[in-house]
Parts: sequence; structure tokens; C-alpha cells
Amino acid sequence: MATWITDECIGCGACEPECPNQAIRAEGDVYVIAPELCTECVGFHEEEQCQAVCPVECCLPDPDRPETEAELLERAHRLHPEARFGENFPSRFRRG
Ligand code: SF4
Ligand code: SF4
Repeated sequence: MATWITDECIGCGACEPECPNQAIRAEGDVYVIAPELCTECVGFHEEEQCQAVCPVECCLPDPDRPETEAELLERAHRLHPEARFGENFPSRFRRG
């Protein structure tokens, strides 16, 4: 499930540079995530980096877009054809 930014966003911009996929952009006074670019940080981090830095914790899994880890990893491969994700790639699904 791609991450989405809820109405709670205060437009601080902290999340935007943290995204490994450049999926976050400003839209008016708030920020939005392009779901086709979001991998929930699978392949890069153990947790969603936008949510990790968000002061109001409004970057949440979008219940309308359920996706498996395999689908998200495939997207990461597509977005970063040069990257090599080993067997132990970081993933929120593998967090202890
Ligand atoms: S969850 Fe990760 S990939 Fe998705 S928008 Fe947030 S920082 Fe970017
Ligand atoms: S870090 Fe949170 S409050 Fe700040 S722009 Fe991103 S989603 Fe909005």
C-alpha cells in the first residue's frame, strides 16, 4: 500500500528530501505523494522515511492501495534499474 499524506499535513516540507524515490512534492500549502513512485521505502529503509521525520505523523499507509512487499520491491527495481537489492534489503515488512 503506498503511503499517503493526510489532511493533518502542515506543509513543513521535512519529508520531501527524505524520499528515496522523489515521490513527494508540494501542492499548494501541503505536500502529496505520487503513489506510482512510493515503495513505502522498501529496498532502502526499514521504515517510511516521510513518516519518520513528519512532526505530525501524517504519512500513513493508504488503505485503498494495498500492495505486497514483492510488488513494492518490483517498483523499486523499476525506479532504480541501477540498484542491486540483496537478499536482506531493508523493508518495513521485515522490521522486528
Ligand atoms: S514511504 Fe518512502 S517511498 Fe513512500 S513517499 Fe514516503 S519516503 Fe517516499
Ligand atoms: S513532514 Fe509531514 S507535515 Fe511536513 S510536509 Fe511532510 S507530510 Fe506535511
